[in-house]
Amino acid sequence: MRYDLHSHSHYSDGSLAPQDVVARAQQCGVDVLALTDHDSVAGIEAALEAARSLNIALVPGVEVSVSWGKHLVHIIGLCVDWQHAAFLAGMQRQQQLREDRAIQMANKLEKHGVPNALEGALGFAPNGLVTRRHFAQHLVSLGIAPTLPKVFERFLRPGKPGYVSTTWAPLDEAVGWINAAGGVAVVAHPHRYDMSATTRRRLAQEFLDCGGVGLEVACGGCGEDVLQSSAALAQRFGLLASSGSDFHDPASNWTDLGRFHALPPNVEPIWNHARFKLQEKG
Ligand code: AMP
Ligand code: MN
Ligand code: MN
Ligand code: MN
Repeated sequence: MRYDLHSHSHYSDGSLAPQDVVARAQQCGVDVLALTDHDSVAGIEAALEAARSLNIALVPGVEVSVSWGKHLVHIIGLCVDWQHAAFLAGMQRQQQLREDRAIQMANKLEKHGVPNALEGALGFAPNGLVTRRHFAQHLVSLGIAPTLPKVFERFLRPGKPGYVSTTWAPLDEAVGWINAAGGVAVVAHPHRYDMSATTRRRLAQEFLDCGGVGLEVACGGCGEDVLQSSAALAQRFGLLASSGSDFHDPASNWTDLGRFHALPPNVEPIWNHARFKLQEKG
């Protein structure tokens, strides 16, 4: 069984509709797919419907932006009741923060000579939820930078002219929303945070103390070294291991659906957790 428990649709910053993410996952040999859009579950219903008609299991999920001290951390919720009222209220708060941030980012970018920054970003965000990736797409389309990573480097990282610092949900609240909705919380791509090994261990401990249970051990585009160090972190704290591609776009073949290392034998998979429940296959 191949579990891809991290993917995006055009309800956040992915380029495909949920039904097309599901269809592609099936073509890529994925048996169990989680759709985990940034701070939104708007694509879950369409994804579930598509999964029912194809031979694939769909896990309702989300990727929540969290402020942990000065760090931005992504927490994935899996097997959430995506209609749960308190959970949805949390998502709405995050979406409001995104709207406010988008306006501030657009103002900063326009002062830096980027025309129509908000309209341009919204042009890449068909469902109105704006991420930094949409701004990056706008800047690439204007020829201001050649690639998305270059835009991030020059404009969208902390300290750069289009960056706006945002206070997202605190860790305990984000994990609380996911747990209230009956889901399991997972720290996404732990290697990507710019923090020391000691700080990363402190994050793991605080996450456990908040009721979190998982760590993304196998990620799209990650090498053997990252796999082993994340597995060691999971093992040390008794966190269950997750695997996911972080798929956004078919053009980026490093992070295509189902494309990541298998979990090493020294970790316990997250799908063995009692709250990890699957819909029946179609
Ligand atoms: P946001 O949640 O609005 O801050 O946007 C973060 C998103 O931007 C991530 O989920 C990625 O999809 C994208 N992103 C972040 N860094 C880069 C990068 N260096 N190159 C391309 N995309 C990036
Ligand atoms: Mn993204
Ligand atoms: Mn992420
Ligand atoms: Mn992601």
